[in-house]
Amino acid sequence: MFMKKHSVVAKKKYGQNFLQDEGVLRKIVEAMPKNDNKIVEIGPGLGDLTKFLVDVKSVEAFEVDTDLCKLLQSTFKEEIVTKRLRIHCGDVLEAWQSSLIDEPYDLVANLPYYIATNIILKALADPMCKNMLVMVQLEVAEKFCADSGDSVFGALSIITQSIGESNIIVKVPPTAFDPQPKVDSAVFLIEKRSDRSDKDFEDMLRVAFSQPRKTLIKNLSSKYDKNSLAEFFQDLELTLTIRPHQVATGDYHQLYKKIQRSLDDRRESRDTRQ
Ligand code: SAM
Repeated sequence: MFMKKHSVVAKKKYGQNFLQDEGVLRKIVEAMPKNDNKIVEIGPGLGDLTKFLVDVKSVEAFEVDTDLCKLLQSTFKEEIVTKRLRIHCGDVLEAWQSSLIDEPYDLVANLPYYIATNIILKALADPMCKNMLVMVQLEVAEKFCADSGDSVFGALSIITQSIGESNIIVKVPPTAFDPQPKVDSAVFLIEKRSDRSDKDFEDMLRVAFSQPRKTLIKNLSSKYDKNSLAEFFQDLELTLTIRPHQVATGDYHQLYKKIQRSLDDRRESRDTRQ
């Protein structure tokens, strides 16, 4: 695999590990969903992935490092003039309101690892974001792509499965980057079917996985009525000893519906008594 050289000093505080392996860059482009959506790239860095992206689609890129912004503006002069590429200089999290841009887009990026989970959750909640093809730390990719029963199955896997389908495309060793990160990486794809599940559902998941080694009912009992939970578990044929990672996404949704219904009933009967 072909590796390129660059002379820029990477800034650790911005999570700069530049992807230099042309084979991996090509795999990312090949895995891009085929549609007319715009591309958003977060952290174009030296522009190695950007070069491939502007060849196939128009791109909106967000880069926090002002030195790299200047470099990108001179490397991509022509693409900027022809509006194939727009570079937003600044922190993407500050620029991100309810939507990052006001038209449908796919996020394609080698993300800065220190904020990768935050970015993915924001993109999952952003109605304009339709798909995501991102490089992150392998351990993080596995959490987003896990199935129930896997030891790393958790709230991130369930939120993702509730919205779309996720798959690991390629695992990437540290040697593909300059400077090399200390961890393995992976590119994974999330194809969204709908927009984000609701916040109360995510709150329930947070409680469900608060102590991953404890039983699910024990965790949930810290917030919800234990007797009602025992009834719901029986209805759904879930054993009382089941652990949070052993329950399928569909069962979490059923459980959530039952919990919400019983909370609504309780609220209603309290209101009629007053
Ligand atoms: N895309 C390039 C590549 O594949 O070689 C660089 C990827 S590097 C892992 C992450 C990039 O994200 C860096 O260019 C870094 O400056 C940028 N970055 C870090 N934090 C950011 C933020 N809050 N907003 C926008 N860009 C950020």
